[in-house]
Amino acid sequence: MITKRGQLKDHINFVLAVKDRLWPNIKIEEFLVVYVDTRNSPPNFKSKFIDSDMVTNEPIILGFEGTAHTAGIAIVKGKNIIINKSATYLPTQGGIHPREASEFLSKHFPKLLEQIFHELPFDTQRIDAIAFSQGPGLGPCLRITATIARAISLLIKRPLIGVNHCIAHVELGRMVTPAQDPLVLYVSGGNTQLITYLNGRYRILGETLDVAIGNALDSLGRKIGLPHPGGVHIEQKAKSGQQLLHLPYAIKGMSFSFSGVVTAAYKLISEYSVSDICFSFQEYTYAALAEATERALSCTKKSSLLLTGGVAANMRLQEMMQGVASEQSVKFFVVPKDLAGDNGAMIALAGVNMYKANDFIDVKNSQVIPRWRTDQVEVSWIH
Ligand code: AMP
Ligand code: MG
Repeated sequence: MITKRGQLKDHINFVLAVKDRLWPNIKIEEFLVVYVDTRNSPPNFKSKFIDSDMVTNEPIILGFEGTAHTAGIAIVKGKNIIINKSATYLPTQGGIHPREASEFLSKHFPKLLEQIFHELPFDTQRIDAIAFSQGPGLGPCLRITATIARAISLLIKRPLIGVNHCIAHVELGRMVTPAQDPLVLYVSGGNTQLITYLNGRYRILGETLDVAIGNALDSLGRKIGLPHPGGVHIEQKAKSGQQLLHLPYAIKGMSFSFSGVVTAAYKLISEYSVSDICFSFQEYTYAALAEATERALSCTKKSSLLLTGGVAANMRLQEMMQGVASEQSVKFFVVPKDLAGDNGAMIALAGVNMYKANDFIDVKNSQVIPRWRTDQVEVSWIH
């Protein structure tokens, strides 16, 4: 059944056929496109299945993530992630060293970019804008990322979009899960925030007063001899924990304080097993997150809860948040594991929303903002 004829952006004539009884196995969001590639002489006929986004007017955004440990580049078209590649810096000892992390980014971005352009299924001229993580993050890393994004923007003559990294974790969740106006628990290596949208801004209802939960997990991991990233290894060790050891309960009003819990947990190492320490640390810190989340849900009356950020990959935390959501009769959503940690796709997806709102910045006004708070951003794309 031919439903539409037309021309793709790079002058490829197409005939669009939508799923019908002849092709029962095609997903509804896929189209069979039969097209004539006029760039070759003589023109050759081709056909392929493509996502519906490919033939709509959704913008194509090239996104760069580089706030700390991850060099990430992605190409998205609307909500469709076309390519998403990253490289992650692992400190050889201690935590993330800003200069070493920035050197890692400057080494890996060119390689990733080469791969992306090599695999790109269309001409670079079809890219509509360049989005990059403008902040918050480590200054040296942000500057490397911004420099590359500016260069590509000038080279292919496409506008620049400065994305707030924390908000990108939220926008990713809103674009890849059904959550639309959720209460968000954003938990990562550098941030821990309870966020919700109100009157033109994302508001922070509670946050860490010292280190982020991911940072706390990683530093406890290092102290008790686990490899980096500690969060992943603590989750594994906690599975065989037998007893709940007493630790400080890290809630301060609606906010959190985790550094004292790390110190207290580490002090138990001479008397108790690593498994018991890991189990207890997760229970105490995640319970504090759960308590504030439950109070925020009760106050805001939001109808969904979204868990995002690298620590969202933790199954015990997911279980607790699911429990909180059920208690409050709201829907629970969590970002997919492969998109939980920092990645280029989240920057590009936030870029899609900002592109549609014409939220661009000039190259000359694109300075990085290392301490850019979530609640300082005027949200142009939600009405
Ligand atoms: P991000 O800063 O968003 O890239 O997240 C990185 C943080 O996520 C690090 O602190 C990791 O330890 C943490 N993380 C990753 N996977 C897990 C997990 N399964 N459980 C707990 N923390 C995790
Ligand atoms: Mg992050």
